[in-house]
Amino acid sequence: MDRYARLRELRQGNAAGDDPTTPITPDGGDLELTVRCYTSRDSAEFATHRMRLHPDGTAELPHDLHAERIAAALGSFTSCLELVDSVIPALLSALPLISRRARVALDRDARGQWRIPRDRARGCCRRATFPDPTLAVEHLRDPRHALGAQSFAHDAIAGPVFAAAEAAWARARPAHPDVNRLVVEGDGIDQLWRAGIHPDDIPALAAPAAAVARPLPATYFVRMRYGAVDPDWFSTVIAARPDGEFAAWLSAREGAVPDARAWAAWLRYGVTPRDAELATERRISPDVVPAVVAATAWPPWLAARNVMAWAAAGCTPTPAHFAALARHGLEHHRPSAAAIDALIADIARDRGDPVLPRPAQPAAAPLEAEPGRTELAVLLALLGTRRQVVSRVRTGVTAIDCRALASQQSA
Ligand SMILES: [Zn+2]
Repeated sequence: MDRYARLRELRQGNAAGDDPTTPITPDGGDLELTVRCYTSRDSAEFATHRMRLHPDGTAELPHDLHAERIAAALGSFTSCLELVDSVIPALLSALPLISRRARVALDRDARGQWRIPRDRARGCCRRATFPDPTLAVEHLRDPRHALGAQSFAHDAIAGPVFAAAEAAWARARPAHPDVNRLVVEGDGIDQLWRAGIHPDDIPALAAPAAAVARPLPATYFVRMRYGAVDPDWFSTVIAARPDGEFAAWLSAREGAVPDARAWAAWLRYGVTPRDAELATERRISPDVVPAVVAATAWPPWLAARNVMAWAAAGCTPTPAHFAALARHGLEHHRPSAAAIDALIADIARDRGDPVLPRPAQPAAAPLEAEPGRTELAVLLALLGTRRQVVSRVRTGVTAIDCRALASQQSA
């Protein structure tokens, strides 16, 4: 059984699957409200009167609609005919969204902006982009979208009708105390409601972050609901760093993501998420940490931090290199990429060579005749100055075994 079956189901957008039997009000009763009644398309003047909307979609109005239709055929105007003919059908079609039971999926463009999917898009939003999912689903609930074409009815007539249905559904929203505790913000449940997320679905959205003992930010839920982060991948990584802010950040990670197991292993060593990502990008295996621990007797967190610090400077020292650094008490040395670049330029100048950058080396690379970036950087750390490294290289120490050098230094 897929632990995240409900989450995957929610993400599968299906406009055709919207429940057409969604009632107008949560209790299946009438919706009563005050509507505006215009007798001219060109005048801003209106009267107000009550309307009672029955569960079957029929409306009770203080008009004889049959007579109004005859009058309309002769050229008179009553906005209540539009109310009955356009607004109420539009409201009925929007009820799955208003009740937060619709399964809405959103598309993304190349820049990460959110888009209304083809099966729900209309003229008003076919090309629209939204900076966040909440704005996109708010648009779907907007009467302008539900009514489609430009109509007199939009704001003045449809607005209050949609607002009354929205209010009725919001009032009847279930209040589960255990669900409230899942969201960190005081108004988190409201924020999620605005984002089209029903309280009943919040536990399914929280499931991939079950390792986090504390409440999660609303942004996490919105992203988990509408984004594409893989819940299995997410749960592996979050278990290594069970933190709400990290969960919110991680929930936006999708597409080409670092290997979850490697990333989690780095996080468990206490390195920052950014460094863990750098390590996985550079294919530095977390398995190097126990080897460095064995070679140096550093605690694992220090070994991991040092592997990271050297990786950030474009270097991948071997456990033997780290052993040399440890013997020189350099466990808190932070290599500087700029200083290493300058050293490489110094050596090239010393030889009269063109200055070429030396790329980062994979950890397993055999020592070459020419010292590589990592060897030079380790030498710089051990000897202290660029000048000393240049003269050492000039004397013909080209293939440098730092172990030999280290024992030589300490002898
Ligand atoms: Zn639209």
